[in-house]
Amino acid sequence: MESTRHRFMWRCQRINDFSALDDRDPIPQRRSWWCRNILLTSTRGLLMTLIDSRRLTEDLVRLGEIGRRVAGGLDRSSFSPADTAARQWYIDRCTRSGLDVQVDGIGNIIVGSPIADALTDTDRPPVWSGSHIDTVPNGGAFDGALGTLAALECLRRIHEEKLVLDRPVRCVVYADEEGNYAHLLGSRAITGGVTRSELESLTGRDGDRFVDTFTAAGGDVERAADSVLPEGAIDSSVELHIEQGPVLEAQGIDIGLVTGIVGLGGGTITLRGQADHAGTTPMSTRKDAGVGAGAVLLALPGIAPMVSDRAVVTCGIVRLLPGGSNVVPETAHISVDFREPTAELVGVLESAIIAEVESIAAEHGLDLEMEFEPTVPPVPMDEEVRDIICAAVEARGLTQMSIPSGAGHDSQNISTVAPTGMIFVPSIGGRSHCPEEETRWDDVGNGAQILLDTIIGLANR
Ligand SMILES: [Zn+2]
Repeated sequence: MESTRHRFMWRCQRINDFSALDDRDPIPQRRSWWCRNILLTSTRGLLMTLIDSRRLTEDLVRLGEIGRRVAGGLDRSSFSPADTAARQWYIDRCTRSGLDVQVDGIGNIIVGSPIADALTDTDRPPVWSGSHIDTVPNGGAFDGALGTLAALECLRRIHEEKLVLDRPVRCVVYADEEGNYAHLLGSRAITGGVTRSELESLTGRDGDRFVDTFTAAGGDVERAADSVLPEGAIDSSVELHIEQGPVLEAQGIDIGLVTGIVGLGGGTITLRGQADHAGTTPMSTRKDAGVGAGAVLLALPGIAPMVSDRAVVTCGIVRLLPGGSNVVPETAHISVDFREPTAELVGVLESAIIAEVESIAAEHGLDLEMEFEPTVPPVPMDEEVRDIICAAVEARGLTQMSIPSGAGHDSQNISTVAPTGMIFVPSIGGRSHCPEEETRWDDVGNGAQILLDTIIGLANR
């Protein structure tokens, strides 16, 4: 009791020092006031426990060596030998610290502390924190790895300090976040669920079948299709991630308080013309699908700013068939990915893209087919979790700003079953999904500390 009162008074003293921060705090005053109240009333233990940033740095460097190409980028596609090695390294790291490791049906790794669990009420659902360790091809060392290893560092500190919390804590590695087989597969399997027939239809970037690779890696497809968590299994969740964009660094802000994850959609556009001889067919009589594809590539990026300043459109894959240098292209397949943070504007963006592509096809005399996935609506982050993150940032004397996530994350699935929040730290030059992806070590430490403070705040609220 005595020590609790002592900690409480010490916190109050820190809070009184915050007036100087308000000038540079881009969070509106109302939120600031709420944050302080939350800090005073519901985050017992906050500020007392510090992460070991050196250990976290070493973990990030070590994980960043697994699956590294000679040229510098990382290849850890999910369930590849490199991903399997990284997962085993992570599990070894956990067990060496005395933590309990479980792997669920789809391959998510879920880690708890036997010491912290003995000191809390394990009948209450746990607070979750985690991210992913798979990467895109030729990816970077911070996307997913930061949130995964920072969550592990937080759990280790809770374990080492024998913190008495009101709820258990779990750190998590989600399987196949980057969509080698299906985007956010691990978090979707435990929230919305996946069927066995869907799993059997999945193929990877290398053309392999999910069921073959998953079984070879020791997985059980029957169990994978039966991974949905019972209702109320997660109390709340928070994920630390690199911003993957330039905003925080450009504005000199330490922490991004994620307001929500953008809505997104897309699919494939197919333009069909006529294959002809490249030497004998006059330009005036051609039906060149390649020229149509070029017009689409030029036009679509221009649509985004007409919808909103946050909307983005990307055509990342173009295939021309039959693919001969002396043949007029008959068919063009173009991938489209579009994103927008405002719910009402996602549909507006999609309609504008469709109208533009229809007009281009007609202008070039090409047949058109569009196969678009149903759009995924934007997902707001939970207000209470955001307030607890905000309180932690203020208490640590760091700067913050509200920011939407332009990238998809497992948190968008977890948010459908539990209050969920996300914390961003700056990406150097805004670079991500490339070997140059990097975050300053100070920012890594700041983000991990705010993550720990938030986990404690959530566990004790
Ligand atoms: Zn990620």
